[in-house]
Amino acid sequence: MAYPTPVAVASLQSATLAGPWDALICIAEQIEHYPDPELVQWLKQQQRIDQRIGRETVTLVCPLVVGQRLIVAPTGPLNRYYDDVRCFADVAKQAILQAKTAGAVKPLLWVQAPAEPRFQQALAVSYLAAAQALWQPLEGREARGEMAVEPVQQIGLVGMDSNEARFLAATEAGRRLARDLCGTEPERMAPRRFADYCVEAFSGSAVSVEVETDVERLQADYPLLMAVARSSLAVERHKPAVIRLEYKPAGEIKQTLLFAGKGLVYDTGGADLKINGGMAGMSRDKGGAAAVAGFLKTVAELQPEGIHVIAEIGAVRNSIGSDAFVADEIITSRAGVRVRIGNTDAEGRLVLADLMAHLREQSQGLPNATLFSVATLTGHAARAVGPYTALVENGVAREGSVSASIANAGELWGDPAELSSSRREDFAFIRPRSCADDVLSCNNAPSSVTARGHQFPMAFLVVAAGLDQATESAANLAYVHVDIAGSGVDGGDWQHGKPSAAPVTSLAARYLR
Ligand SMILES: [Zn+2]
Repeated sequence: MAYPTPVAVASLQSATLAGPWDALICIAEQIEHYPDPELVQWLKQQQRIDQRIGRETVTLVCPLVVGQRLIVAPTGPLNRYYDDVRCFADVAKQAILQAKTAGAVKPLLWVQAPAEPRFQQALAVSYLAAAQALWQPLEGREARGEMAVEPVQQIGLVGMDSNEARFLAATEAGRRLARDLCGTEPERMAPRRFADYCVEAFSGSAVSVEVETDVERLQADYPLLMAVARSSLAVERHKPAVIRLEYKPAGEIKQTLLFAGKGLVYDTGGADLKINGGMAGMSRDKGGAAAVAGFLKTVAELQPEGIHVIAEIGAVRNSIGSDAFVADEIITSRAGVRVRIGNTDAEGRLVLADLMAHLREQSQGLPNATLFSVATLTGHAARAVGPYTALVENGVAREGSVSASIANAGELWGDPAELSSSRREDFAFIRPRSCADDVLSCNNAPSSVTARGHQFPMAFLVVAAGLDQATESAANLAYVHVDIAGSGVDGGDWQHGKPSAAPVTSLAARYLR
């Protein structure tokens, strides 16, 4: 299910002497905090020879621990107001890679954290960070074999109870699917192959999958999405797909979660072509779709009671060709809104708007419904908030503190977010300039140099998806736009960084525990 699998281990004593483990990773602020006095004594002797011990992550040959491999991983200071649980994540990544390099395949992880709320998930977060560091790209696994590039099979978690280990396994299974879908090159994850990967991932699970590839039906149901896809239709293997995922629990349903995922398997920018080397990394423009599929995978594993989850993913390629859509075109959205195209590189919002309109229609009569759009939408989000997920919510969501509750969960689980506000200036920015159209999709400067460049697209999504229309389905619908352009890859490097699977962890922590 998850790989490397988390295994609950009752105590260090029961694990160090026996069991399948072949290394011990100790993460703590200081070696004096280690649980075994004999081990502390031994480390102090070693420290006289190697002063890195206690200062940086080191691997020692130690006769006192399983496999004789001891990885000593100090967190550094944890007492400053801005320290958070990622202090553990950072050092867990270094430590697990040292364990792997040393030849361990079943390391044991022991974590000691200060007894403060901000560090309460330190062990779980360390596991998730280790799994993140161990993940290798799908192309590499398919070419070289899984075991050759991902040898670590299990991670023992000292002091974890088995229910928590089950939640972690489900969360990591979702994150793993999200990374695979996001991180893979554009032909391996061409739209229909992206859909196939989802079908396979959910086969035999509690989540149903339906894939729509019929061009005429897509044209009728998703006109904006199909404008983006138009020049891809000339190439059979680049044709678009809409993937619908649904989890419906037995028994009473108390809450409905609806997700639209932006799955641009490649974004050339279209006729507003990305130039000067700005195109590299654009195979990752499907990170939102990948995260949505990943969250549904976690749902499939946990099968929560009382929560109904529906997702629509648009897997599309924004190509360039003689039939490419261009700026100035006016296209009527699924919701009946006449959209003037401002720039063809602002294609993600076009794909999302029709998916959201569908989800809004489906939400009619469903209890306590919240809609999310998840996307690598704007460079502005990355510029404005750095490596955090940006959340922009409507009034209904704000009243219910939806974004705040997700951000609070993310803070504890090392998958943090920043809250942005939706303002009247955002709606003024996208207003129609004449009676020719109802809304403008985008301006023509990079979002990163446009004031409110990640907030105003949320206003566009509200209008183009018909969320501001006087319908019953729109009036009570909480809506949160989730921009992962800053948080979607490690280190913000869209060409080479590992997909982070944000915000799968924070959504799982908020809704599935
Ligand atoms: Zn684009």
